[in-house]
Amino acid sequence: MTTNKGGTQQSPRLTIELVPLRSWQRNVRAVVAQDTWDALRWYFGATEERPRYLNIAFPLPLPTLRFKCKYCGVEGQTLHLHEEWRYDDNNKVQQLVGLRPICSMCHLAKHMGCANEIGRTDEALAHLAKVNDWTSREAMAYIKRAFAVWHARATIEYTLDLSYLERYIPSTKIHLDWLDKPRTWVGTRLDAILWAKRLLDSDTIIVDTETTGLLDKADVEVIELAAINTKGKLIYHSLYKPIHKIPSMAMKIHGITNREVKSCPTFFEQAGSVTAALQGKIIVTYNAKFDREVLARTFKLNGLAGISARWECAMHTFRVFSGSGKYLPLGRKHRAVEDCKATLRLIRRMAKGIP
Ligand SMILES: [Zn+2]
Repeated sequence: MTTNKGGTQQSPRLTIELVPLRSWQRNVRAVVAQDTWDALRWYFGATEERPRYLNIAFPLPLPTLRFKCKYCGVEGQTLHLHEEWRYDDNNKVQQLVGLRPICSMCHLAKHMGCANEIGRTDEALAHLAKVNDWTSREAMAYIKRAFAVWHARATIEYTLDLSYLERYIPSTKIHLDWLDKPRTWVGTRLDAILWAKRLLDSDTIIVDTETTGLLDKADVEVIELAAINTKGKLIYHSLYKPIHKIPSMAMKIHGITNREVKSCPTFFEQAGSVTAALQGKIIVTYNAKFDREVLARTFKLNGLAGISARWECAMHTFRVFSGSGKYLPLGRKHRAVEDCKATLRLIRRMAKGIP
């Protein structure tokens, strides 16, 4: 720690992160469950929101740096939990050495490769220069050196050392095997931004369903399905007359009545068109677990084989993006086309990094 003329302590230097390519997604967030991550975010001072159910009895006292960016010192905004790594190139070990609260601009400056990909290089560069009191030329020279190191490291396969984390949480909460079999999407806020950005450039479709109930109902059916592409163009939309009546509980949610679907085609009649629209696609929904399951059950109920597709969940990604441990509902509309559009707006916002 250096001191300036006034004698007050200066912030530590903001440097960019040299995460090798192969370490992509080899982060703490990828090996712990959401509730553990929420607990860590609170404990290490990235959020004042203490999880209502804290699943960890942290053995060490709270860190002194709380609710304040480690690098630029900004307070009073949502902070990210930043993972600090040390790379031992001789022994090929990637060691976790710290978890620190950091603001979104410092986070962006730390991940210059990501900033570049989402078109925010200039902003990140300006912030890097400002925090370190560098001229833009100095900042640029620094980045060039950093990227040279990064390229050299990109070819190395590192072993992960998470002993730092084991000082704070039980090793039973660290799931290294998750790195080999990714179940659900995991990552940091910047990963979420990249996810959204890549999605918008792909031929992904955004889907939403309205149903006769929730998953606790074995014979739940889809009664409305919409699919749009990432440009917002409607690919498919239909209401269906269900096999069983729509219960009033479900009607309260989406407002679709039995009278409204009386003369609609059945799902069975539309199954060919649904399959044509969804089969083999990358499908994004807001709460993919639900839509995927309810669609599978509807196919089954009609004696049909379901579709195979890659499902991605915008709600899950949005939770990572916003650093919230809560279930985040998507607006109030609850009609399939409107919900698809709302999901697309959300993905566009995430791609731009807008909170
Ligand atoms: Zn900062």
